[in-house]
Amino acid sequence: MGTELERLTPAPPEGDLLDSPRFPQAAKTELANHQQRTNLRHATTTIRNKRARVVGELSNWQDLRDAGEAIKTRVGRHLDEYLLQFEENFTKAGGHVHWARDAEEANRIVVALVKDTGQEEIVKVKSMVTQEIDMNEALEAEGIAAWETDLAELIVQLGHDRPSHIVVPALHRNRSEVREIFLKEMGRYGTPPPDDLDDQPKNLAGAARVHLREKFMRAKTSTSGANFAIAETGSLVVVESEGNGRMCLTLPDTLISVVGIEKILPTFDDLEVFLQLLPRSSTGERMNPYTSVWTGTTDGDGPKNVHVVLVDNGRTNVLADPEGRAALRCIRCSACLNICPVYERVGGHAYGSVYPGPIGAILNPQLRGTDSEIDRSLPFASSLCGACNEVCPVKIPISDLLVHERHKVVEAKKKDPPHIPHTAEPQIMAAAAWVMDDHRHLELAGKGSELGSRVLGGLLGWKKIGPLPPPLSRWTDARDVPMLPEQTFRDWWKQNRETKK
Ligand code: SF4
Repeated sequence: MGTELERLTPAPPEGDLLDSPRFPQAAKTELANHQQRTNLRHATTTIRNKRARVVGELSNWQDLRDAGEAIKTRVGRHLDEYLLQFEENFTKAGGHVHWARDAEEANRIVVALVKDTGQEEIVKVKSMVTQEIDMNEALEAEGIAAWETDLAELIVQLGHDRPSHIVVPALHRNRSEVREIFLKEMGRYGTPPPDDLDDQPKNLAGAARVHLREKFMRAKTSTSGANFAIAETGSLVVVESEGNGRMCLTLPDTLISVVGIEKILPTFDDLEVFLQLLPRSSTGERMNPYTSVWTGTTDGDGPKNVHVVLVDNGRTNVLADPEGRAALRCIRCSACLNICPVYERVGGHAYGSVYPGPIGAILNPQLRGTDSEIDRSLPFASSLCGACNEVCPVKIPISDLLVHERHKVVEAKKKDPPHIPHTAEPQIMAAAAWVMDDHRHLELAGKGSELGSRVLGGLLGWKKIGPLPPPLSRWTDARDVPMLPEQTFRDWWKQNRETKK
């Protein structure tokens, strides 16, 4: 990566997301950011309450969830057929379909398509999959500037930051931080904000509107994601709140949509279910302010060249796991993030991926495998409270999948070469197995515990067990460990119950 001045667009933070530290380590850093914790608590509480209110208005909410689950499960069973049907209908309508096995192939296709237009900049509507494949950086490396046009994405891009949330990427920022970012960075990359910009949301949005308008009017090429791809008609659908998406989808000559293969819906009628489930679950709105549907090209209206890049990038691996494939039902609404007590405290950056929160904890190791430290730690980044299961509009059993993924991590560790140091877990489990194996072993362990309590509590006066040396420090660093009991349960039973019989 070159220096910032050599770049066309603001540089994101250094380093690759996949190389992020293990979740517990990253979480510690994020927890120390008090301003961010305040911002996160305020934002998630507000969205959570809004969601609960509008969901409560629908008497058939559970029926809608059942329908959403059923449609997406059917998509998983027949994905190959629906994708081919989509390709046929999209092509018939004048569009071009490209298939990408992984991020590298997807970026190669997008870069070639943009280069064919002769353009050196594009405008983008917010898209998770383009973030997943790091498309902006691939374009930047080829001398093409990609401008984010979603307000929150613009804040993230200008702030040299990374998204922290699926739906509200700048959720971790408050409005005075946004004002500072705009004042410092906007003028370097286009129309500057007014000198007297204050932190009123209306005025911040106004500054962004003027800044983006210049880019929209100039753009000849744009990229988008899609919330849904309809096999029956070959249509793509984007739902959004600001109208920036519609500008990207209609103004330029060339539109390149980059879409994960799991976004398929079989029929147009299926949209009825998801256009109710998605806005209520994501932003607590009854319907999305803007819903754009496009099917190929139309003479004299909209882009003349329409492409879709259908991206696998690990999704067929997820599909191959009969239990884990439920994660592919996800419609990226973020309800599970907003309800998650872990996410609320640490925010999205600790998850080392564009998919944070409970869905990220299961989806990332599924998409990327369990080779990296961060992916091995993610299935454990949960208290398994199950709140996410209750709010998920497509009924993904997230806590079951967390346990499923934990099992996969344990199995993966067993296959590591012997020189890789593991946790002390296998030794601790072996010791526990020995203790439980025979009642005499258990009694012996009980006596040891009593002795420990007498020495530590009685002689040394400890009230609780403080930090222990490695490897036990991994447990005691984050928890208070109570003092060992002075009497085992067996002894207590003998003393208090057996004698009274
Ligand atoms: S897992 Fe469910 S609740 Fe979470 S983002 Fe996906 S659809 Fe929404």
